[in-house]
Amino acid sequence: MAAADFLIRFWGVRGSIPVPGIDTLRYGGNTTCVEFLIGGRRLIVDCGSGARNLGRRMQAEASRSADLFFTHTHFDHICGVPFFEPAFDPEWTITCHAGHLQPPESLPDALGLLMATPLFPVPCSSLKGFHYTTFTPGSVLDIGNGIQVATTPLNHPGGAVGYRFTHRGRSAVVITDHEHGDAAIDASLVRFAEAADIMIYDTMFTAEEYERHVGWGHSTWQSCLDLAAAAKVGRPVFFHHAPARSDAELDRIAETARAIAPQTVIAAEGLELRL
Ligand SMILES: [Zn+2]
Ligand SMILES: [Zn+2]
Repeated sequence: MAAADFLIRFWGVRGSIPVPGIDTLRYGGNTTCVEFLIGGRRLIVDCGSGARNLGRRMQAEASRSADLFFTHTHFDHICGVPFFEPAFDPEWTITCHAGHLQPPESLPDALGLLMATPLFPVPCSSLKGFHYTTFTPGSVLDIGNGIQVATTPLNHPGGAVGYRFTHRGRSAVVITDHEHGDAAIDASLVRFAEAADIMIYDTMFTAEEYERHVGWGHSTWQSCLDLAAAAKVGRPVFFHHAPARSDAELDRIAETARAIAPQTVIAAEGLELRL
């Protein structure tokens, strides 16, 4: 990891539930986990089922530190924690950042619900590599190495947090899970994502499907393109694909979206983007 790097790797791009199978081979079936190698540091957003493969790769490398940013703790974003090998390794220092839970709720308590009898055999206290820190959504976190982490509240049941990572004038935004339609939050997101090179966005639904899922806490690829245009984002990235969305359907969505915005990217497991 060189100090000038800004590399994004997708380990899980699916929402709701892992969906391995012949219809999801190309875009991938694992739930959300995205790695950012920025300025010599490893930043991770979410620990869905995709985190299992990331953890195996991390174990094979020399570094033993990372920052893990949780958008929120719905199951699809944390189900990889019990299978994320570095979390159990005391040689690791993985700083876990969360802002969607405020006292008396906390990230370790939420993970404790997941990793407890009778749901799981190994307790949350075994996560010796995890260290926890809390912030208020809207605050800007300074994690060193010239990396700025801006945060913002999203519109999602139980709350979720968007992130913007900036280093040496380049920036990538992650907005998931989020439902468009709250005027104040939508306006704040135009400012939050302004002129970002990359915007990874919750495109669970098509505009047509959304009509039947108002209030579910997710957005559409059409809203992604609207926000990307309003914020003058370099590349919008469709993310948090619906579990039922086949590779063929994603191909069709990509074609339609690229006719509107040619720079559109469809997130896929294994995809790497470099800024
Ligand atoms: Zn989700
Ligand atoms: Zn969610």
